[in-house]
Amino acid sequence: MSFIERLKNMFIAPNGIDKRSYWVHTRCKRCGEVVSGRVDMLNDLSKDFETGQYTVHKVLVGDGRNRCFQRIEVTLYFDKNKKLIERSITGGEFLEPDEVAEARAAYEQAMAEAKARAEAERKAREAALHSQQTETTDPSSNS
Ligand SMILES: [Zn+2]
Repeated sequence: MSFIERLKNMFIAPNGIDKRSYWVHTRCKRCGEVVSGRVDMLNDLSKDFETGQYTVHKVLVGDGRNRCFQRIEVTLYFDKNKKLIERSITGGEFLEPDEVAEARAAYEQAMAEAKARAEAERKAREAALHSQQTETTDPSSNS
Protein backbone atom coordinates (compact mmCIF):
# COMPACT_ATOMS: atom_id res chain seq x y z
CA MET A 1 0.00 0.00 0.00
CA SER A 2 1.39 3.38 -0.97
CA PHE A 3 1.78 6.23 1.45
CA ILE A 4 -1.03 8.13 -0.25
CA GLU A 5 -3.35 5.15 -0.02
CA ARG A 6 -2.53 4.74 3.65
CA LEU A 7 -3.22 8.40 4.17
CA LYS A 8 -6.53 8.13 2.36
CA ASN A 9 -7.53 5.14 4.44
CA MET A 10 -6.97 7.17 7.56
CA PHE A 11 -9.74 9.52 6.55
CA ILE A 12 -12.04 7.30 4.56
CA ALA A 13 -13.73 4.41 6.28
CA PRO A 14 -13.94 1.11 4.36
CA ASN A 15 -17.58 1.79 3.44
CA GLY A 16 -16.55 4.94 1.59
CA ILE A 17 -17.77 7.34 4.23
CA ASP A 18 -15.12 9.69 5.47
CA LYS A 19 -14.78 9.86 9.22
CA ARG A 20 -15.16 13.59 9.29
CA SER A 21 -18.74 13.26 8.12
CA TYR A 22 -21.67 11.88 9.99
CA TRP A 23 -24.60 11.20 7.70
CA VAL A 24 -28.08 11.44 9.08
CA HIS A 25 -30.84 9.79 7.07
CA THR A 26 -34.49 10.65 7.53
CA ARG A 27 -37.84 10.03 5.93
CA CYS A 28 -40.30 12.89 5.62
CA LYS A 29 -43.44 12.34 7.65
CA ARG A 30 -45.66 13.98 5.04
CA CYS A 31 -44.48 12.58 1.72
CA GLY A 32 -42.07 9.74 2.50
CA GLU A 33 -39.15 11.38 0.76
CA VAL A 34 -35.76 10.26 1.99
CA VAL A 35 -33.73 13.27 3.02
CA SER A 36 -30.14 12.89 4.12
CA GLY A 37 -27.85 15.45 5.64
CA ARG A 38 -24.16 15.58 6.38
CA VAL A 39 -22.78 16.68 9.69
CA ASP A 40 -19.25 17.99 9.54
CA MET A 41 -17.79 16.51 12.70
CA LEU A 42 -15.13 19.20 12.85
CA ASN A 43 -17.19 22.30 12.17
CA ASP A 44 -20.86 21.63 12.87
CA LEU A 45 -20.77 20.45 16.46
CA SER A 46 -21.13 22.71 19.41
CA LYS A 47 -19.49 21.64 22.60
CA ASP A 48 -20.98 21.76 26.03
CA PHE A 49 -17.98 22.56 28.17
CA GLU A 50 -19.60 21.30 31.36
CA THR A 51 -20.39 17.79 30.14
CA GLY A 52 -17.88 17.59 27.30
CA GLN A 53 -20.70 16.49 25.02
CA TYR A 54 -21.45 17.77 21.55
CA THR A 55 -24.73 18.68 19.94
CA VAL A 56 -25.74 19.61 16.43
CA HIS A 57 -29.05 20.84 15.12
CA LYS A 58 -29.92 20.33 11.47
CA VAL A 59 -32.86 21.36 9.35
CA LEU A 60 -33.38 19.10 6.35
CA VAL A 61 -35.66 19.92 3.45
CA GLY A 62 -36.52 17.68 0.50
CA ASP A 63 -35.79 18.59 -3.10
CA GLY A 64 -39.29 20.03 -3.63
CA ARG A 65 -40.12 17.85 -6.64
CA ASN A 66 -43.35 16.81 -4.98
CA ARG A 67 -44.16 20.28 -3.66
CA CYS A 68 -43.63 19.12 -0.11
CA PHE A 69 -41.62 21.64 1.81
CA GLN A 70 -41.82 19.98 5.17
CA ARG A 71 -38.92 20.87 7.42
CA ILE A 72 -37.31 17.95 9.16
CA GLU A 73 -35.43 19.07 12.23
CA VAL A 74 -32.95 16.80 13.90
CA THR A 75 -30.81 17.21 16.95
CA LEU A 76 -27.93 14.84 17.51
CA TYR A 77 -26.02 14.37 20.73
CA PHE A 78 -22.50 12.97 20.80
CA ASP A 79 -20.34 12.07 23.75
CA LYS A 80 -16.85 13.48 24.22
CA ASN A 81 -15.50 10.84 21.84
CA LYS A 82 -18.00 11.98 19.22
CA LYS A 83 -20.00 8.81 19.45
CA LEU A 84 -23.73 9.28 18.92
CA ILE A 85 -25.57 8.91 22.23
CA GLU A 86 -28.98 10.43 21.60
CA ARG A 87 -31.03 11.96 18.82
CA SER A 88 -34.39 13.60 18.34
CA ILE A 89 -36.42 14.49 15.28
CA THR A 90 -39.54 16.39 14.28
CA GLY A 91 -41.27 16.28 10.91
CA GLY A 92 -39.87 12.90 9.98
CA GLU A 93 -38.33 9.72 11.23
CA PHE A 94 -34.79 8.40 11.34
CA LEU A 95 -33.66 5.75 8.89
CA GLU A 96 -30.76 3.43 9.54
CA PRO A 97 -28.13 3.40 6.76
CA ASP A 98 -29.27 -0.05 5.61
CA GLU A 99 -32.87 1.16 5.27
CA VAL A 100 -32.04 4.09 3.02
CA ALA A 101 -31.85 2.33 -0.35
CA GLU A 102 -35.18 0.58 0.11
CA ALA A 103 -36.94 3.68 1.43
CA ARG A 104 -35.57 5.74 -1.45
CA ALA A 105 -36.70 3.15 -4.01
CA ALA A 106 -40.17 3.04 -2.45
CA TYR A 107 -40.39 6.81 -2.61
CA GLU A 108 -39.20 6.95 -6.23
CA GLN A 109 -41.78 4.33 -7.15
CA ALA A 110 -44.54 6.23 -5.37
CA MET A 111 -43.46 9.39 -7.21
CA ALA A 112 -43.50 7.56 -10.57
CA GLU A 113 -46.92 6.11 -9.82
CA ALA A 114 -48.30 9.50 -8.83
CA LYS A 115 -46.91 10.97 -12.03
CA ALA A 116 -48.45 8.19 -14.14
CA ARG A 117 -51.76 8.67 -12.34
CA ALA A 118 -51.71 12.42 -12.97
CA GLU A 119 -50.89 11.78 -16.61
CA ALA A 120 -53.74 9.26 -16.97
CA GLU A 121 -56.14 11.70 -15.32
CA ARG A 122 -55.04 14.45 -17.67
CA LYS A 123 -55.59 12.18 -20.69
CA ALA A 124 -59.00 11.10 -19.35
CA ARG A 125 -59.98 14.74 -18.89
CA GLU A 126 -58.86 15.57 -22.42
CA ALA A 127 -60.74 12.59 -23.83
CA ALA A 128 -63.88 13.57 -21.91
CA LEU A 129 -63.56 17.13 -23.13
CA HIS A 130 -63.07 15.90 -26.68
CA SER A 131 -66.10 13.58 -26.63
CA GLN A 132 -68.16 16.38 -25.11
CA GLN A 133 -67.18 18.63 -27.97
CA THR A 134 -68.07 15.95 -30.51
CA GLU A 135 -71.43 15.34 -28.83
CA THR A 136 -72.35 19.00 -28.82
CA THR A 137 -71.40 19.48 -32.44
CA ASP A 138 -74.38 20.58 -34.48
CA PRO A 139 -75.65 17.43 -36.31
CA SER A 140 -76.47 19.52 -39.39
CA SER A 141 -72.81 20.25 -39.92
CA ASN A 142 -72.07 16.52 -40.27
CA SER A 143 -71.44 15.60 -43.84
ZN1 LIG B 1 -42.00 15.73 2.40
